[in-house]
Amino acid sequence: MSEVSGNPTGHEPGKDIRAVLARVPAVERVLSSLAAQPLIGEYGRTQVVDAIRIATETLRRELLAGASFDPSFDFEARLVDDAMRTLAARSRPHLRAVFNLTGTVLHTNLGRALLPDEAVRAVIDALTRPMNLEFDLATGNRGDRDDLIDDLIGELTGAEAATVVNNNAAAVLLTLSALASKKEVVVSRGELVEIGGAFRIPDIMSRAGAKLREIGTTNRTHLKDYDEAINARTALLMKVHCSNYAIEGFTKSVAVDEVARLAHARGLPMAVDLGSGTLVDLAQFGLPTEPTVRETVAAGADLVTFSGDKLLGGPQAGLIVGRAELIRKVKKHPLKRALRVGKLTLAALEPVLQLYRAPELLRERLTTLRLLTRPSTDMQAQAARVQDVLQHALGDTYSVTAEPMMSQIGSGALPVDQLPSFGVAIRNATGKRGGRALMKLEEALRSLPRPVIGRIADDALRLDLRCLEAADEAAFVAQCAELHA
Ligand SMILES: *Cc1c(COP(=O)(O)O)cnc(C)c1O
Repeated sequence: MSEVSGNPTGHEPGKDIRAVLARVPAVERVLSSLAAQPLIGEYGRTQVVDAIRIATETLRRELLAGASFDPSFDFEARLVDDAMRTLAARSRPHLRAVFNLTGTVLHTNLGRALLPDEAVRAVIDALTRPMNLEFDLATGNRGDRDDLIDDLIGELTGAEAATVVNNNAAAVLLTLSALASKKEVVVSRGELVEIGGAFRIPDIMSRAGAKLREIGTTNRTHLKDYDEAINARTALLMKVHCSNYAIEGFTKSVAVDEVARLAHARGLPMAVDLGSGTLVDLAQFGLPTEPTVRETVAAGADLVTFSGDKLLGGPQAGLIVGRAELIRKVKKHPLKRALRVGKLTLAALEPVLQLYRAPELLRERLTTLRLLTRPSTDMQAQAARVQDVLQHALGDTYSVTAEPMMSQIGSGALPVDQLPSFGVAIRNATGKRGGRALMKLEEALRSLPRPVIGRIADDALRLDLRCLEAADEAAFVAQCAELHA
């Protein structure tokens, strides 16, 4: 509506204003108008009263500031309209769906793994129906929530027992608290990782009340370093997967099986924090190799911790698998109660794990794997379509080209390897570097109804299409028409 004009002309202020203000209807009257009734039905009277009051105050302020309105102007309709906008804006959730065109598939800031339909259906069920979360249906007695998926995890990893907590940071914290409180844990200096968001092995160690015994050097650690560090206070030998970095050149680390053999010879347990922890050999899908949980268990690790929402492709969770007697100890620790998962996590996790029973279908049905293995020809054809649409929407201030790019797995998985992908690059058409114009465009993309998240690199705004699956392309294309940059 553009009935407001900034400057009243030829009016005598005082008297006029009073007359105009008198035309603003009372809140009660707007509230009982026909147009307000659907709003009351949807949002409830309390919120609608509030929104109309805000609209009324705004209108009064405009009038006092000198805005003039046509004599036929419908104040009531304007107030209902304003109230509707306020209510809609206020009720829009803050946690919203976006398009992840960053090229990072498991993007921690965008919620990591996307779950398959099976998991979604199970979560809806768990949200709306009572579940046997801690109820043994065979005996009618109280059950243990870990028992629901303990066997399945064992089947997929070869471990004797398992437990699930809120995330992998919690899994590491709980493991160290249960096994190494007031004692020493031996870790190679080359494995003292910091994962984003303040997860640092040395800090977790002290939070758990354990003493970190660093051995070796940043680039080289030998078996004898582990051996010499063991003393009467040692509780655990631990290896941590270098999730988000690689040490190259003159390096040496000791393999899990060697550390495990040493630990066992000295009567100690050995733990591995795998981070991403895949359940299948990724090389069969043309992806770079990562150590699997099964391999790590088979190599002799007594406890292995890994995330649910990284390469596993499930909900946020931390899995701890390993020897039954150690898992029992971990589960008895009081922190377990504080770090345990809810029914939604378990509901989502089980169907994801079930998918691994059919490895030949995994690539199609596990969303994360489907995105990681998307055929390049697919993305290339899509890039050509998206290029057209975006070029049309943006006009000739920008030049849009379809280009090959490199995606990343993300979340610390396989840090150095990149996946060949396709997308569009948007540049300033004048050929100028145009940093500000690109930032403006990036902001416009973020302001769309379903925000589009890309990245700016080398004077281009890049939209990697790996994570724009066919089912979402139409929605993406449709909202490009709303782009104003
Ligand atoms: C990602 C990661 C963690 C933390 O896992 P979250 O599930 O994010 O809590 C811990 N250790 C390693 C090695 C990791 O890669």
